[in-house]
Amino acid sequence: MAFEVDIPSKDPSRFRDVLPPERFEEFEHGCEEARRLLDGHVVWNVNSTARGGGVVELLRPLVAYARGAGVDARWMVVEGTPEFFTVTKRIHNRLHGSPGDRGPLDENAQRIYEDVLAANLAEFVDRVLPNDVVILHDPQTAGMVHELHAAGALVIWRCHVGLDTPNELAREAWAFLRPYLLEADAYVFSREAFAWEGLDRKKIAIIAPTIDVFSPKNCDLDRETVRSILLVSGIVTGAEVPAPPPFPCQDGTPGRVERRAQMFEDEPLHEYDPVVLQVSRWDALKDPIGVIEGFGHHVPAETGARLVYAAPAVDAVSDDPEGERVMREALATREALPADARRRVHLAALPMDDLNENAVMVNALQRHARVVVQKSLAEGFGLTVAEAMWKARPVVASRIGGIQEQITHGETGILLDDPRDLRAYGAAVTALLMDPERAEEIGRRARERVRDRFISVRSLLDYFALIRRFMLVPSG
Ligand code: UDP
Repeated sequence: MAFEVDIPSKDPSRFRDVLPPERFEEFEHGCEEARRLLDGHVVWNVNSTARGGGVVELLRPLVAYARGAGVDARWMVVEGTPEFFTVTKRIHNRLHGSPGDRGPLDENAQRIYEDVLAANLAEFVDRVLPNDVVILHDPQTAGMVHELHAAGALVIWRCHVGLDTPNELAREAWAFLRPYLLEADAYVFSREAFAWEGLDRKKIAIIAPTIDVFSPKNCDLDRETVRSILLVSGIVTGAEVPAPPPFPCQDGTPGRVERRAQMFEDEPLHEYDPVVLQVSRWDALKDPIGVIEGFGHHVPAETGARLVYAAPAVDAVSDDPEGERVMREALATREALPADARRRVHLAALPMDDLNENAVMVNALQRHARVVVQKSLAEGFGLTVAEAMWKARPVVASRIGGIQEQITHGETGILLDDPRDLRAYGAAVTALLMDPERAEEIGRRARERVRDRFISVRSLLDYFALIRRFMLVPSG
């Protein structure tokens, strides 16, 4: 059942290129300490999927850089039955404050949950030695705390899910999980507001998500490469260019952009048209309808700007019926705009056949955009915001969830107090389009903010510090 994912190490010395010297020194020092403290011990990360999802995006670079720093970090994936994932999805939805499938979190759910984790533990627990560190990610693994703690490991539970104002549904999920968690040595949440009631405050630590600045999604791309990626993928039209050079994939092998995005538009986007961009899944909580209508009605044509809403291509046979529905609604909203507004709105479905290729397309789009928008109605952290800020883009985003941690209004971006106020959204976007100097200044500060707070270096140091704080170092 449980299996290990092989993660090649990545050399953390490359952060020398992006950090000021004193911060790189601090990082090296932290790695050195961790190496000493964890010598002979393994840091296990355990989650329930090796592919897809934000947790994988976060985990992969952290494990890779920790390994590169000389720490024996590893990644285990637990497997489950469909019933198990029905229960854990139910818990996940409730942690977000929504009812999900409305099924019960009762004794039967408990039995399904415990049986699967017991089977996974049976294959895993023998490999865990006293004073190893185990970081269990999300509700799917919470039920493993007791046995791993009994095996003598330092057990940290990392919750990636949260909401600003908990409701009864969230409390129901907490009540289900809490008994499993009491013996954990520490709990990690993404932001203070997400920390649960009823857990020992002294054990709680806050570690914000971070992005991997060397991944295909965020690595540097020069202007010509950006241009050729957007041309080859059919997102913009313009003069013929040579094919984009290969880009480095997650595993270090060279990747190529070959596939085309599917564009829904009245006329092609020209490479010189100023672009306002939102990159999001087709999800109602990302408010594609509001993004399109607000742009169409409240960003004047005189700006010359075009909106691109880019999302993963929805596969007709995908298991996300909501994605397809929301995409149809977005298309219909575009269709219903007056002709001159509709002409300025482009929807892009980015191919998902090759995730590295998809990531580098997102990268190119974010670098190409004049203004990036994240007008979500709900958001845990909002990685797309950090991604755009890293590329020195001015971001207009809703004042919700973890976005508030990233953007200081007027300094490192623009926050919208009411995400449903389309007029205010249009006005904020227009103001940035009309004032390129201010936009550039905000973008510059945005990049610094991400460099200081939201790149892998930060969370690695945070995890090392947490382990140091709680690790039981044998005396003598
Ligand atoms: N994303 C992507 N390809 C797409 C659309 C989105 O890789 O076509 C990525 C996006 O760049 C980001 C992630 O999906 O890294 C979304 O994370 P976020 O925290 O913004 O929102 P979530 O989808 O987890 O609610």
